[in-house]
Amino acid sequence: MPFEIRDVLELSTEQRQILQLSREFAAKEIRPRAREVDDAQTESPLDLWAKAAEIGLASFMIPAQYGGGGITDMLTQVLVQEELCHGDIAIGNLLTSSGFFADPILELGTDEQKQRWLSPLCGDTPPLTALAVTEPGHGSDAAGIRTRAVRTGTGADEHYVLNGQKAWISNAPYAQRFVVFATVDPSLGAKGVTAFVVERDTPGLTVGKPMRKMGQRAIVNAEVFLEDVRVPVADRLGDEGQGFFGLMRTFDASRILIAASCAGLCRAALDYATDYARDRVQFGVPIIKHQAVAFRLADMAVRTDAAHLFAVRAARLFDRGERVTAEAAMAKLVGSENAMANTWSAVQTLGGWGYSQEYLVEKWMRDAKLEEIEEGTSDIQRLVVSRSLAKADGPGQRADR
Ligand SMILES: Cc1cc2nc3c(=O)[nH]c(=O)nc-3n(C[C@H](O)[C@H](O)[C@H](O)COP(=O)(O)OP(=O)(O)OC[C@H]3O[C@@H](n4cnc5c(N)ncnc54)[C@H](O)[C@@H]3O)c2cc1C
Repeated sequence: MPFEIRDVLELSTEQRQILQLSREFAAKEIRPRAREVDDAQTESPLDLWAKAAEIGLASFMIPAQYGGGGITDMLTQVLVQEELCHGDIAIGNLLTSSGFFADPILELGTDEQKQRWLSPLCGDTPPLTALAVTEPGHGSDAAGIRTRAVRTGTGADEHYVLNGQKAWISNAPYAQRFVVFATVDPSLGAKGVTAFVVERDTPGLTVGKPMRKMGQRAIVNAEVFLEDVRVPVADRLGDEGQGFFGLMRTFDASRILIAASCAGLCRAALDYATDYARDRVQFGVPIIKHQAVAFRLADMAVRTDAAHLFAVRAARLFDRGERVTAEAAMAKLVGSENAMANTWSAVQTLGGWGYSQEYLVEKWMRDAKLEEIEEGTSDIQRLVVSRSLAKADGPGQRADR
């Protein structure tokens, strides 16, 4: 029987409808494919991507004027993300991955650029896309990236030439378009970082072999190589030097969504372990009657609620137009660490069977680990929260608390 988070939100009919759609899609289409997609190692389930796109689940978050579903409030996005990731976090993250490409365009792009690059994401057969920041030598320190963008030519022929290497890029083997972050001057640090949209078939752009990885295999990662890649000035997002600050703003949104994915995974692990503990009999009673197991499940329920509530709180502040850098970091930190703890607890609750690939919990434990790493590691989230404490308006410092 699934764990119900008691609803403290007054949701509209439209919100309830998309939640119901997501819940059904997660149960009927996503969960049954979770093991097979994990076993495939380095192949995304493109048929599921197409099915989700057909019913609008891949583009519901894109503004209506560009052809999307127009559900741009963060709260609904959080609730949908939770439901999809309750089906399976790896597949859920794949289905909403257009958001990672769209966010910097929405943040930095002109209206013409938004039309040009967001509309294709909203059709029945949208392309997969990617966001390329990380490099082999620069991960947490995104302001230090070394991919160079050199402006050259004059008049109509004015363009940038990009050279560098990107690592760990999600969707890279399939992506038709990339938002690439490069520096126009490495000596400027964050102030040199500039964003570009680069088409897959641009001469000089090549993608490495799919990387074999621990979990979250529904999304395939690869390196991206840029060798004298020519990018028109019209394909730059924002001004030179605006890229890093735009990226940091998009992190406020994307970290809340990662927190939501984790809340969905927390609940999936709890439901799975509770069902098992009710059925599995040892020493003549269902193991849920053994206090050690029951208390472990109780802790899982508390962590599930906490992950959900932190994500919802950050989403509501975001929707009020407030700066949520610290709250988004807190939500991602709590969500990812709770997902790790809950999936570990689910494996423990299933005993030896938890360690078997007959059941999904070992896979989810591997999947959970990524969320403590991507979009800023847990150390980086703590850094963000700690920095906010030094400010007068940091969490816990406000007059209304
Ligand atoms: C599956 C997967 C998918 C990804 N998808 C993408 C993608 O689509 N696009 C993209 O651009 N990137 C992507 N990434 C990259 C990801 O964002 C980075 O891996 C992450 O930011 C960490 O960078 P790093 O791996 O270089 O680790 P490092 O930055 O080298 O960190 C190593 C360790 O040092 C710690 N550390 C570093 N700096 C500090 C500090 N200042 N204070 C305290 N501790 C610190 C870290 O917490 C970590 O424990 C992906 C990564 C993975 C694994």
